[in-house]
Amino acid sequence: MIEVNRQGEVWVFAEQHLGKVEDIAFELLGRARELADKLGVKVGAVIAGDSIKSVCEELIQYGADKVYAVENNLLEHYQTNSYTKVLCTLIEKHKPQIVLYGASPVGRDLAPRVASKMKAGLTADCTDLQIGNHEIKKTGEKHENLLLQIRPAFGGNIIATIINYDRWPQMATVREGVMPMPEPDAKRKGEVIDESVSLSAQDLPIEIIEQVRREKSVNLKASRIIVAGGAGVGSKENFRMIWDLANALGGVPAATRAAADLGYIGKDYQVGQTGTTVRPSLYIAIGLSGAIQHQAGMSESKKIIAVNNDPDAAIFDVAHYKVCGDLNEVVPQMIKAVKEKV
Ligand code: FAD
Repeated sequence: MIEVNRQGEVWVFAEQHLGKVEDIAFELLGRARELADKLGVKVGAVIAGDSIKSVCEELIQYGADKVYAVENNLLEHYQTNSYTKVLCTLIEKHKPQIVLYGASPVGRDLAPRVASKMKAGLTADCTDLQIGNHEIKKTGEKHENLLLQIRPAFGGNIIATIINYDRWPQMATVREGVMPMPEPDAKRKGEVIDESVSLSAQDLPIEIIEQVRREKSVNLKASRIIVAGGAGVGSKENFRMIWDLANALGGVPAATRAAADLGYIGKDYQVGQTGTTVRPSLYIAIGLSGAIQHQAGMSESKKIIAVNNDPDAAIFDVAHYKVCGDLNEVVPQMIKAVKEKV
């Protein structure tokens, strides 16, 4: 645990793979920039790995004022102990007030280890981060300029705001796609600070023989048009019409967890709290109820069209265009209309 440090920077753990920074790091830098500007402090990015110097400037372009670079060939591949040591050493040295991580497999492994070692708090899977004040009702204690760590809780039935006023740094993980990707600014200036952390065999207990990265069958995040089907579509065969409409529009199909669990489509296509978070120009929601966990992954879409035969379906609360009817009648007409127009 480090002492409360009001001048501390806002840090982002910049995850990289083979020298390429992951998108989530840029997304976090965008939000870190906003938080730091509100606090009047600097944004720091921490990057560790082998051959990382070339990407430090990129982190500055996306919002970092300082990049703490730990270049060491022993850090080529992520390992829990070595990366935890790097983060803890730098946190103890520089005392940031906030540290943000992507809720990726690496971030989900690393952040709790750092939290445990530093005896700091950690909120997982935040959907929003803000700066705000808090008064503890029981004691009247007032705390200013804290990180408000906002996320669904109790199965998505409430949106909780979690604060950590004494166990610093304040730390949170955020899933990819939740924060908008900022525009890089090639003219931004920043400082790259070389750091070194001594590593022993104890810090690298695993010998990595081969790394195989499984690519997802679809990149939902990059898709401008998404046609999502839910359990209401009724069967894998009927789900063909979701593919057909997506193809006709030049988009990609997606699904709710219920539809994916029913085997209508693969898990990679799931949108929502435990799937992918998307912000397309157009999201067509067909035969899905609009559960809070689904909305968590799509409500930021620019335009939402919903097709449902239940006028009270929750998806209609977030839809810009609402079609109340049987999808078996509506969707074939949509496909026909699009094809005739093209
Ligand atoms: P349903 O809720 O069964 O809705 C089907 C809809 O289809 C209904 O609204 C019905 O009116 C409509 N319909 C039926 N027939 C027709 C027809 N012929 N024409 C038109 N409309 C019709 N869910 C996700 O999607 N993504 C997640 O990431 C996710 N994560 C979760 C995490 C947790 C911790 C938990 C507890 C749940 C999670 N869920 C997630 C599940 C979520 O709570 C819902 O159960 C799920 O989203 C419901 O899927 P659905 O809308 O397809 O099915």
